[in-house]
Amino acid sequence: MDFELPPDDDPRRIEVRAWLTGHPSPSGRELAEAGLVAPHWPRPWGLEADPVQQLVIDAELRSAGVRRPVNPIGIGWAGPTLLHAGTQEQKDRYLMPLLAGEDMWCQLFSEPGAGSDLAALSTRAVRDGDEWVVTGQKIWTSLAQHARYGILIARTGTDPTASKHKGISYFVCPMDLPGITIRPIIEMTGAHTFNEVFLDEVRLPAENLVGDEGEGWSLAKVTLANERVSLSSGGALWGQGPTGGDLVDLVRARGGVEDPVLRQRVVDLHIEDEILRLIRLRTVSAAIRGEAPGPEASIRKVLADEHGQRVFGLAKDLTGAAGMLTDQGPLGAPADLWHHGFLFAPALTVGGGTGEVQRNIIGERVLGLPHEPDVERPAAAR
Ligand SMILES: Cc1cc2nc3c(=O)[nH]c(=O)nc-3n(C[C@H](O)[C@H](O)[C@H](O)COP(=O)(O)OP(=O)(O)OC[C@H]3O[C@@H](n4cnc5c(N)ncnc54)[C@H](O)[C@@H]3O)c2cc1C
Repeated sequence: MDFELPPDDDPRRIEVRAWLTGHPSPSGRELAEAGLVAPHWPRPWGLEADPVQQLVIDAELRSAGVRRPVNPIGIGWAGPTLLHAGTQEQKDRYLMPLLAGEDMWCQLFSEPGAGSDLAALSTRAVRDGDEWVVTGQKIWTSLAQHARYGILIARTGTDPTASKHKGISYFVCPMDLPGITIRPIIEMTGAHTFNEVFLDEVRLPAENLVGDEGEGWSLAKVTLANERVSLSSGGALWGQGPTGGDLVDLVRARGGVEDPVLRQRVVDLHIEDEILRLIRLRTVSAAIRGEAPGPEASIRKVLADEHGQRVFGLAKDLTGAAGMLTDQGPLGAPADLWHHGFLFAPALTVGGGTGEVQRNIIGERVLGLPHEPDVERPAAAR
């Protein structure tokens, strides 16, 4: 680690603490208006915070036990895209309620025939006076059942000879418009986070177009450059949940394991956990030096997702035959997170860009290998 966080008496820490003294249990709205939800955003929504200030704010909120509003697609995707390409009116209307967690957002990108190859999408938007009329089907839409708005990409171009990346437009879609049907998909965890979304002649006001007509493809990738700097604890479910280190600690606390094969897997897990921790620190220190994140993010994603699957696979195997019962966790630990994680883990290498697609990116952009023959570029990561 080649950086240290500022000391306890640093003015940036004192400022956050002073605010927290005046707001000991802040609401999402108060946090948003103080610029503390996405401090790296420009004012008035953020504080234009550099990476060190972001880490200081994270640390101070954490030690005060203050949690930020949860709105992953709104804050992670929709917000940065609106900041990049939205009109002033769109920013004024959508950004503060999104940061405050008052308006949840979802992402209407994937379709039954367009996932990794997202540019093959066939949902169509046709201009009719002051409106766009949208018809098509989206799938795997996380949180659609809670969302007030969705970011939607649809084909507006009509030239059949144009590249499939051209003629895609980007919209804000209110999820309560007539013609929208949301049908739940229940995961094998038993949870309902995904949905199918059917759009049947949905009329979107013209002002809901984001950026220029036909230029939505470049917007769909914009947020990759907006990754927030965070010293996450490295939870094995996309940064959430227990870590590989938690499982190793559990094994240690229970006096180790006898079986040599299981013991070797515990050691391998510990090594991977440590490598991923060092990669995270390297990413943070690069951000502090002002270096932009590059395709190395794909390397981290491949390693972390497959590591996550191994963490929960090993946890299940350590539970033995009792692991077949949902009320058993590894080595007598409570089952809730471990069992859920085991059932969710296969999704890790699919969502946000599959492992194979990440490997293509690594091959082409990191190793300089030739592009896939006769294949148009798949979506970099979603
Ligand atoms: C937990 C989770 C949440 C999600 N949330 C959302 C959401 O909110 N909104 C949304 O729009 N989507 C969402 N998705 C969908 C996700 O973006 C897609 O599942 C993903 O892009 C893969 O697309 P696909 O499922 O159509 O698989 P496909 O693209 O059909 O891939 C099938 C298989 O072919 C492989 N493959 C495809 N192309 C290539 C290639 N060029 N080279 C090598 N192998 C290839 C893939 O790796 C995969 O193994 C979510 C997915 C998950 C798992």
